[in-house]
Amino acid sequence: MPEATPTREIFLHFSTWMEVVFYVVSAVATGIFLYGSYRRIQKYRRGRKENRFDNLGGRIWRALITIATNSTVRKGDRFGGLAHTIILWGFVVLFIGTVLVALDHDVLRFFSLKLLQGTFYLWFSLILDIFGVLFILGLIMMIVRRAFFKLPELNYDRPDAQDGKVDRSGFVTDDMLFVWLLLLIAISGYFIEGFRIAETMPEFERWSPVGWALASMSGSILDVEGVVTAHVWSWWLHALLVMFFIAYIPFSKMMHIFTDAANLVFHDPDTGRRLPSLPLSSEPLEEGKKASQVMGYTHITDFTWKELLDFDACTKCGRCHVSCPATAAGTTLSPRDLILDLRTFANEALGTPEWLKQKFQTGSRWPVQNKTDGNGHIDVADKVIRPETLWSCTTCMACMETCPVGIEHLTSIVQMRRHLVDGGNFDENLQNALMSLGDYGNSFGESPKKRSRWTKGLKFKLKDARKEEVDLLWFVGDFASYDPRIQALSRIVAQILHDANVDFGILHDGERNAGNDVRRVGEEGLFEMLAEDNIKALKKAKFKRIVTTDPHTLNTLRNEYPDLGAEYEVLHYTNLITELIQQGKLPVKTPQKRKVTFHDPCYLARYNGETEAPREIMKAIGLELLEMPRCGTNTFCCGAGGGRIWMDTSNEQKRTSEQRIEEALDVPGVEVFVTVCPKDYAMYTDAVRALGKEDKIVVKDLIELVAEATSDSI
Ligand code: SF4
Ligand code: SF4
Repeated sequence: MPEATPTREIFLHFSTWMEVVFYVVSAVATGIFLYGSYRRIQKYRRGRKENRFDNLGGRIWRALITIATNSTVRKGDRFGGLAHTIILWGFVVLFIGTVLVALDHDVLRFFSLKLLQGTFYLWFSLILDIFGVLFILGLIMMIVRRAFFKLPELNYDRPDAQDGKVDRSGFVTDDMLFVWLLLLIAISGYFIEGFRIAETMPEFERWSPVGWALASMSGSILDVEGVVTAHVWSWWLHALLVMFFIAYIPFSKMMHIFTDAANLVFHDPDTGRRLPSLPLSSEPLEEGKKASQVMGYTHITDFTWKELLDFDACTKCGRCHVSCPATAAGTTLSPRDLILDLRTFANEALGTPEWLKQKFQTGSRWPVQNKTDGNGHIDVADKVIRPETLWSCTTCMACMETCPVGIEHLTSIVQMRRHLVDGGNFDENLQNALMSLGDYGNSFGESPKKRSRWTKGLKFKLKDARKEEVDLLWFVGDFASYDPRIQALSRIVAQILHDANVDFGILHDGERNAGNDVRRVGEEGLFEMLAEDNIKALKKAKFKRIVTTDPHTLNTLRNEYPDLGAEYEVLHYTNLITELIQQGKLPVKTPQKRKVTFHDPCYLARYNGETEAPREIMKAIGLELLEMPRCGTNTFCCGAGGGRIWMDTSNEQKRTSEQRIEEALDVPGVEVFVTVCPKDYAMYTDAVRALGKEDKIVVKDLIELVAEATSDSI
């Protein structure tokens, strides 16, 4: 008997009515899917407008590469990343296979064409079988990871436990339903294949190795009639699971298949380092009038459509939760929970259905009981997210760096902070600091005239860049100008630059706080005022480049002043020292034979991508660098950023600066904790003292070690 042509029949043993039922169920599932998707899109349409459609082709291409390589998912989590990657590719290949089957059966056959036959069919069978196995393997890895690894990122306990009044069991069910449903779909697919092959066992079906093995087994257990019955039942089980899956997508975690892809397309990687200006009022305008600016976000409809999409894109992976210093310090802030609370509230307030979600019981702080006016009009930055939670953020951007799906937590936080600032809803310490900044241009409440008093101890005079042209303008910053501990470091910087014959000057009393942290506190008006003053002073000066020792200052001058029409080349001092060493202007005379560890400042490493310059300097001056587990862009925050240095931080159970010093002490042999940021220096010297570890480790700014290695005059 000649060998049959390799192919398969789709509705084998199906009567016409069964086929009709199948198409009706498919149409219902698709209808539910479309309805759920429509409701979500309606929600995004209620958000504030924002243009994220520039360079759409480039955006899509970048997102496709990220998704295809799964690079953001694999980063920092090898096991979970590998599992996700093979699930993704298994899913994609099986989906393409299903589409080809549908195309063949529902379209091509009406044109007397057939795709799935002959050699193509054989390879099709083999590839689908291989990817099906990978898919199942990935799902099992995910189930094991969730059930047995006890990972802190998968723990849904809230930092603000709310005495058990928040029920998150729906999240756990949703997560497990997702993986188990996919697993059952994949396994039932193999069973259909096995029973189908078992009926006649054609040789060519050896190209479906898993199906062949199952067919051999079932053929030895069941007779032909039993195999046919099993085939029909497994077919229906598989089809109904798939239909449920399709219908369930827009109401569950499964929607991340779409929301994450969209979020990656519309993500703006610069959004944290270059904050948006104040939003425009969304009130209807009278003809010819321009929309006025409003102070941050009050209502859920003040969030942009991209931010509403962010909330839906969260997969609850918890990476931001475990990398957030505010969470580690025991405050009420968890970036994951902030996003999930905003999602739940947005869905409640804007009427978007969600099937398995967190529930807030009567008496909890959550305002589900505080019914809104139907437009979500209650204060989000008070009734939904606690002010204390918003004030706990150090703006370190670890959440955004670790989030695999491009969620922009920080801009939402700052926009809500702006609303709190507008309503005077912040602590007295911060109030005093902002008043000093408004009155004197610095947070120390000192006269601007005293800004360059630290230069008095120098043996030479510092040029006033407003009066004499210089190559390099040194933007000194508040801490380096006024804090006595940091003033000593500023004098060392000045001496080193002088020794290296650098032509530099400062703005003296013309300089103001650059405004980076003022902006991140949410005081946009004050930021603009400080920036305008600085830009005026900078316009008077003649220079080629700006250098600063403060990464916070670096960030705003480099990334935010250009939006105000002031564009400069801005360097961190470690870039300059590296240049000077490379040019032979700072010869190393006394190599430092010490074992050190290095703390990358968030605003240098994460915000501005600079991790190499300090390490090159350390190498050049002979230091042995022993890295802490969290280093480079994966650094941990000192706890001072985002205006935290000015706030009452008594809500922290364990200061992050102290946690960081303990991390350094755990690295065997480390004698020196090296910093390159004035705020870090202040935070860590305090932390070493608070821990009583002065005999174990000493905090030094890198410039001190450079001076010890290169200078005779210090
Ligand atoms: S910016 Fe830093 S402190 Fe703020 S939520 Fe994100 S990780 Fe936490
Ligand atoms: S916000 Fe991002 S990092 Fe955080 S839990 Fe959600 S997906 Fe994960």
